[in-house]
Amino acid sequence: MTAPGSNASANALTTPAGSPFFSYRKGTLYAEGVSLAELGRALGTPLYVYSKAALAAAWSSYQEAIGAHRVLVCYGMKANSNLAVLKEFARLGSGFDIVSGGELARVLAAGADPAKVVFSGVGKQAWEMRAALEAGVKCFNVESVPELKRLSQVACEMSKTAAVSLRVNPDVDAQTHPYISTGLKENKFGIAIEEAPAAYQLAASLPGISVVGVDCHIGSQITEVAPYLDALDKLLKLIDQLTELGITLKHLDLGGGLGIRYDDETPLAPKVLLDKVFAQLKARGYDELELVLEPGRSLVGNAGVLLTTVQYLKHADARNFAIVDAAMNDLMRPALYEAWHGVLPVTPRSDSSALYDVVGPVCESADWLARARQLALHEGDILAIESAGAYGFVMAGNYNSRPRAAEVMVDGDKYYVVRQRETFADLIRGESFLP
Ligand SMILES: *Cc1c(COP(=O)(O)O)cnc(C)c1O
Repeated sequence: MTAPGSNASANALTTPAGSPFFSYRKGTLYAEGVSLAELGRALGTPLYVYSKAALAAAWSSYQEAIGAHRVLVCYGMKANSNLAVLKEFARLGSGFDIVSGGELARVLAAGADPAKVVFSGVGKQAWEMRAALEAGVKCFNVESVPELKRLSQVACEMSKTAAVSLRVNPDVDAQTHPYISTGLKENKFGIAIEEAPAAYQLAASLPGISVVGVDCHIGSQITEVAPYLDALDKLLKLIDQLTELGITLKHLDLGGGLGIRYDDETPLAPKVLLDKVFAQLKARGYDELELVLEPGRSLVGNAGVLLTTVQYLKHADARNFAIVDAAMNDLMRPALYEAWHGVLPVTPRSDSSALYDVVGPVCESADWLARARQLALHEGDILAIESAGAYGFVMAGNYNSRPRAAEVMVDGDKYYVVRQRETFADLIRGESFLP
């Protein structure tokens, strides 16, 4: 499969996210070999469009960085849990990082191997533990001592042994947005690193528990190597301490969090990070330890766009608004994190442009998708919101009784609807009147 972007002369515009799988040909934006103008007209908008080749390329960037080292990549599937996406990663050999019983059910529905699943999350309930033990997951990433005790009890009741890795909080600053930073002391995640040796001793003494690893996940959209190396250093010191206590581990899980390019960020390439990680492991005598990674955003973020149609252009005194048919219920990142996404006209116009805020129809001032963008627009134009493959559809809801968008996977010059647009019947399913 060839990337349409490889035909550089056909690119009328370069896109902020710079994905070679979404590029202009003869004045129209394509996903691989499929015209997004035609796709938007055929299936309606808002519409999530993913590129299968982009998923595979992101996967390859990890595999090339890993080379012959012993590394299990567990896709952090909360970033995009569509079954077709999961199936594709499973086919490529990926494991999965899950954070709920629902995600476990999806992994199993996609036919993935539960022995490559790690189970993270601060609030695992007993039923979720039972389901994961039944399925035979690789390991539970345990985030607190009470969770450890409950897991021991659940495993004993089932006469099973739960493989456990403790998620420690290394207290490093991932230098990212506060809502997506998870490795600082004040975060709810993990066990404080000073308390970890005692927690490991408890784990080693509990019935139904087998200690297998150590784990951290310091945040998301990280673009620097330093926070990872700081965290790794602290984890290796902890492993040294555990060895003295007679506790040996099989794997070290560095979590996910690698950033992508939304605008002008320089993303952290897996190779840049992993070369340093492997060097540090070797220098400290830990090159036999299996490494686990949990990338989410960096595997899917730039493999998707959200198509939306301009409904109205509203010229107010202070601002111009492009009111579109996608909203915060479809793509929550701008409202939640003030996130920046590139906005591309699917068929750019040459007439005069203006500075627009791109907003949705939902009754909230937080309902915006992009602010102050120079665009030449007419009613009915289709826009592509870039970098919408991660934390896009998965965060969608039905606020304002808006059916959730359809999802489509492009493969070369073919496309497949991998989730149908919701209907009014879907919206009221399960509701009833009083008798
Ligand atoms: C969200 C999450 C990930 C994935 O994070 P990305 O920033 O999308 O790579 C990995 N591990 C855990 C525990 C998570 O909560």
